[in-house]
Amino acid sequence: MQDRHIGDVRVTRIEEQMGPGFPAKDFFPEFDAEVFAAEAKWLAPNYYQPESGKLVTSLHSWLVRTGKYTILVDSCSGNHKPRPGMPRFDMLNTRYLERLREAGVEPEQIDFVMCTHLHVDHVGWNTRLDNGKWVPTFPNAKYVMSKTDHDFWAAEAKFPKTEAFIRNTYNDSVLPIVEAKKAEFVAGGEHEMCGCFRIKPAPGHTPGQIRLDLESRGKRAIFSGDALHNPVQVPVWKWNSVFCEDRDLARKTRHTLLADCVEQGALLMPAHFAPPHAAYIKSKGDGFALDWDHDNKRGR
Ligand SMILES: [Zn+2]
Repeated sequence: MQDRHIGDVRVTRIEEQMGPGFPAKDFFPEFDAEVFAAEAKWLAPNYYQPESGKLVTSLHSWLVRTGKYTILVDSCSGNHKPRPGMPRFDMLNTRYLERLREAGVEPEQIDFVMCTHLHVDHVGWNTRLDNGKWVPTFPNAKYVMSKTDHDFWAAEAKFPKTEAFIRNTYNDSVLPIVEAKKAEFVAGGEHEMCGCFRIKPAPGHTPGQIRLDLESRGKRAIFSGDALHNPVQVPVWKWNSVFCEDRDLARKTRHTLLADCVEQGALLMPAHFAPPHAAYIKSKGDGFALDWDHDNKRGR
């Protein structure tokens, strides 16, 4: 178990999957072989597999324990969910809930599930199959999600031409939460939560993506959802993923996020970074770099 402490708050990574995913050249629409080659040295082998050309990707939730509240940030892909055309998410049977229990938390103890956005790999464990029905996996939790994202994906799910895996994601992982009256929608602007969180808009990857800024005893972390997927997007922050809905807005949000990490000394906690899964950021020229020495510097 990999715990991090942000002031008084304990953060544990709950893994669903880890390994090579999309080829880098297919994942970034703005991919440039020369630019990537210049970064490949430090990206391999943790974040990039040179022999296959694939990015190494983690799918995990962040379990956040404040002392008063137990919060799950994003809920991965879920088990037994039909995702036609998406083999990495299709009909999975992972030990995710066992890993949560091994971290010392039963599903009933989760107070809030934070959905940074409503993509297939962020809402899957919102529900589980019970006697042929999708029911909330975390029966005592409020599921916090953006109203903008909800309305966008609810509408997408109704279009006849929408891909089945997108329609299924809304219908089996979001709609049952809304129908069970467990959804808590946030709309626009910033919102305080649990005394140590601030919910902020981070649109672009999806129309209503939100990020979560944590502060405890002067220490900070930012849960960034999919504002960026791979550490190469720190130096090369202009590169989007193929899954970013609005590329200009996604780029702007990524820049704001990285600049905030530098300015606040906040630990960046994305949803898909491979080990060590989180990173401090420093400025470099007029851009950004991973700050591997941050902890050492603080100890000196
Ligand atoms: Zn994702």
